[in-house]
Amino acid sequence: MIRPVPAVAAMQPYALADTASALMSLAQNESCFPPAPAVLVAGRAALARGALYPDPDWHALRQAIAAVHRLDPGAILCGAGSMELIGALVRAFAGPGDEVLAPEYGYIYLATACRQAGCAYRTAPEAGFTVSVDALLAAAGPATRIVFVCNPGNPTGTRLPNAELLRLRAALPPDVLLVIDQAYGEFDDQDPAPIFALAGRGDTCVLRSFSKAYGLAGARCGWGLFPPAIGTEVRKLLNPNNVAAASQAMAAAAMEGEAYMRETVARTAAIRRAFTARLEAAGFKPPESHTNFVLIPFAGMAEAQAVDRALRQRGYLLRGMAGYGLGHCLRATVIAEGPMLDVAEIIIAAVATHRAGATA
Ligand SMILES: *Cc1c(COP(=O)(O)O)cnc(C)c1O
Repeated sequence: MIRPVPAVAAMQPYALADTASALMSLAQNESCFPPAPAVLVAGRAALARGALYPDPDWHALRQAIAAVHRLDPGAILCGAGSMELIGALVRAFAGPGDEVLAPEYGYIYLATACRQAGCAYRTAPEAGFTVSVDALLAAAGPATRIVFVCNPGNPTGTRLPNAELLRLRAALPPDVLLVIDQAYGEFDDQDPAPIFALAGRGDTCVLRSFSKAYGLAGARCGWGLFPPAIGTEVRKLLNPNNVAAASQAMAAAAMEGEAYMRETVARTAAIRRAFTARLEAAGFKPPESHTNFVLIPFAGMAEAQAVDRALRQRGYLLRGMAGYGLGHCLRATVIAEGPMLDVAEIIIAAVATHRAGATA
């Protein structure tokens, strides 16, 4: 019999969203806007050169990123999605006996990355769906090698002020690596410069993605800002030629087309606000989102499940949150305004029906 190594045999597979169905997906926080036209032109041109390996150093892409954010291109690494960078960071800096610490509702892929690396994954409580810097500091111990914070957060959508992240960094020991995942950073109106500047300390990394605001989830491209000594180790664990040539070309063109991204982000936020306002008017209390999704808490797990069934019947798929310990919540990615408001009405009606049944 062929046997896997025990740690792999014991692992649960990563719980992907349910994508096989014909339902309209609000489950993966993909952009509801297509990539910009110039991005498609750049991608097609790169496909015509498909006989060649991609640039293993991501030159043009790093230049485009560095120009927009006024960063040192040498401090940037690109990944096949920022998930690849997360996995490499954990494997490089946390192993058996070590611990990675995240907020209670931290990005669930991190737990998988920790199992792959053989290190422990631990969480610190949040307060009202918002990361608590004090709780993270209280939970950090001698085994803590990495503290990982998404800001804005997934699945909560909430954000910490930059000043809180600076306070966290200043209070953590300098031998603890802080990773700030800004996959939704483009939806946050705070100035990113003070966060990028943290990489200059040598003990902090900042991650970004092309999958959300830039509408390139299918291209699998993310990037991060790494202190030189951290980046050197992470790079050893990336596949050489990790980002496909067409993906690099599309991502670079997307970065150069800031105006299109800003416009789609503004339109996404407007739809999100209309959706949230409708739910709030009906008595729901979603935490304030700074992303392209909304977390919706219900009275309990049974109510959330009843809403999920009603939405599926009407052709919509939201993301269940039981894997995050939030079985009473559903997460809704922003889609076009008409269907999004339809989703709000279905939720409101389904809850009314469920509550009437519960009291009958
Ligand atoms: C979507 C997401 C990512 C990134 O994903 P990639 O597609 O791999 O770039 C990273 N972190 C969080 C919190 C996300 O929601």
